[in-house]
Order: sequence, then structure tokens, then C-alpha cells
Amino acid sequence: MAMKNGSHKSPLVTVGADGNEWQQTSPTGAPGDVIGPGELPPDLPEGRRYVGFCRACRDFTELGDDVSCQRGGHTRDSVKVILELGRDEPLPHMPALNLGALFMPALWGPVHGQWYMILFYPLWLFLDNLIYGTVHGQGVPVLTVIACLLTAGFTIYYGLTANSYGYMRAAADKTPEEYLHTERRWTVAFVLLAVLFLVFATWYNLAVRPQGA
Ligand SMILES: [Zn+2]
Repeated sequence: MAMKNGSHKSPLVTVGADGNEWQQTSPTGAPGDVIGPGELPPDLPEGRRYVGFCRACRDFTELGDDVSCQRGGHTRDSVKVILELGRDEPLPHMPALNLGALFMPALWGPVHGQWYMILFYPLWLFLDNLIYGTVHGQGVPVLTVIACLLTAGFTIYYGLTANSYGYMRAAADKTPEEYLHTERRWTVAFVLLAVLFLVFATWYNLAVRPQGA
């Protein structure tokens, strides 16, 4: 991997402790400079420090001498990415919720290498039919409510874990700032699309769809 220069393009080291399946979905397949289980990252010049991305915390953390997570007390197995920063540079922060993944999981997934998330399209169609049927007295209301709650629950969980997955996948190629910049653009596009989807579905169900269909 090519070394990146400048304070925000610092060299990056990833830990290959337990398979790191996310490395295989990296757009360039580049895992960065890997250190194996038990290995310590190279010594740093004066004034520099290592920080890590903890998968358990889903956020960046200062590191202990044994590369453990100082934020949540997790072992180094949870620390999936190691970044070099200046002594006084602030710790990057990963937002807990990815709004693009929350509003448009069926698009956020494929854009980030999770092609199976296109299954959300038939799921939405199925839910739409369930709701439509229930509103018009044909479905089983309890089942409709359960199906909607399950889908909502999974979507929220997906939105909460998306940044962890998305950043680890991009970590070899993007700084945290670059990753978040890209995600902000996806979020704007996906939220606009979600609103369009909702407007279209509402219009279709109210104005176009024949009663009892
Ligand atoms: Zn942690």
C-alpha cells in the first residue's frame, strides 16, 4: 500500500487477527499494512501516536500499549484499524447512525458491496401490499404490524452498524474525514430518494391503485 502523507493522510495499519472479512470487500482489495495477532505496530517518531477504530465501540479510541481499546476496555481483537496521528490531533469520531443506510438500505448496501440488500425492494413491496390489504380490510392486522416492526427494527440495526462496516471496508483507501464526506453525500441523495419513494407509493396507493386489487 502506498504511504499517505500529511497529518490527515497518515499511514494506516490494520490488524489481521480473526479473518477480517471486511478486507475482502474493500473496493481495491487493499487491506493496508497488516500486523498479525500479537504483533505491535512499528515505533513512532516523537510527537506521533496511534489511535484505533474499535468494532465493539463502533468508534475511534485511544490505544493502550497492547493495542487494546481504551474507550470501552475491549481487547485488541476489537481494534480493526490503526491510524497514526499527531500527539495533539483530536480523536476522530464516527457518528452512531448512518442516515443513508437507515433511509435507503436497499441502495446503501449495494453501493457498499452488500448486494443482498437489494432484497429490501421485494420486502418493501410485500409490506406495501400487506398494509394496503389491511387498510382495506383484507389482511390480518396483527401480522402486518409484526412485519412492519420487524422490518423497522432490522433497518434501525442496519443504520446503527453501517458506519462501522462501511468505514472498515474503506479504511485502507480513505481517511475518516474522507469516508464521512462521501457518506454525507450518499445520505443527501438517499434521503431525497426515500422521500420520492414515499410520495410515489402514497400517490399510487391513494390515487391510482384500483380498490380491492
Ligand atoms: Zn472498544
